[in-house]
Amino acid sequence: MKKKIVIAIIAIILILVWSIAIYMICNPKVAVLCYHNIGTQEEITNFPEEKEWTIDVDNFEQHLKMLNDMSYKSLTLDEFYKWKKGELDLPYKSVLLTFDDGFLSNYEYAFPLLKKYGIKATVFLIGNYTKESNEEWNGNLRTYMSKEIIEKAKIEYPNIEFASHSYGLHENGILNSKKYEEIVQDIEFFNEKMFDTNIYCYPFGAYNDDMVKALKEERFKMAFIFGPTNKEYRKASRDDDDFLIPRLNVSYGIEPSKLFLRLIMPF
Ligand SMILES: [Zn+2]
Repeated sequence: MKKKIVIAIIAIILILVWSIAIYMICNPKVAVLCYHNIGTQEEITNFPEEKEWTIDVDNFEQHLKMLNDMSYKSLTLDEFYKWKKGELDLPYKSVLLTFDDGFLSNYEYAFPLLKKYGIKATVFLIGNYTKESNEEWNGNLRTYMSKEIIEKAKIEYPNIEFASHSYGLHENGILNSKKYEEIVQDIEFFNEKMFDTNIYCYPFGAYNDDMVKALKEERFKMAFIFGPTNKEYRKASRDDDDFLIPRLNVSYGIEPSKLFLRLIMPF
């Protein structure tokens, strides 16, 4: 009797493992990680309102070390896009790292660490937050990369890509008050005043039909959301709308072991 129960349990486990393997092969998914700010414990203590959106420098390095130790492949936007379109197959352990808002702390702390571990990442910049002149790092978590710094970063860190987080729409709820023409103008403004890009990340993850229509009309290829909701995060699949690509929020930091467990999940 006991033997039969053991055989039944083993059979159930095998069926489960087999089903998960089939599911993973038929529905490949890639985790798109979403970070924002990064700082030391002292800096985070000095800016408590940034806490939810700031990862500790040491915790961030632990993430990179784990990704490296576990042989994760970090992606460029182009690799992710080609995978999404079915033009490129990727290993199961692939990940796209993204940073929102273009904080100066990214340049100060994140970029050197990404370079050290040979990991690629994308930063979504807000056009009207970037100043013309250089600003030195002084521990202020509310400072943003200047145009000068962005240009420097492009040379110093070829593993870092930049794309649009809007020119002037990074204000909570602003989208509701904008007409279609104004949205189109803002998208064009970024490419005129910053640089050419066809990848977008919605400010605050907020979008509407006008915004999606405008991006398509302006020949954008992909747009990233946040979540889908603040309570539900999932990996991106090829079936996802190219203009509603979900991301996993890890902005506030997370134990590297927990991050690994989340990444290894097939959803
Ligand atoms: Zn943002």
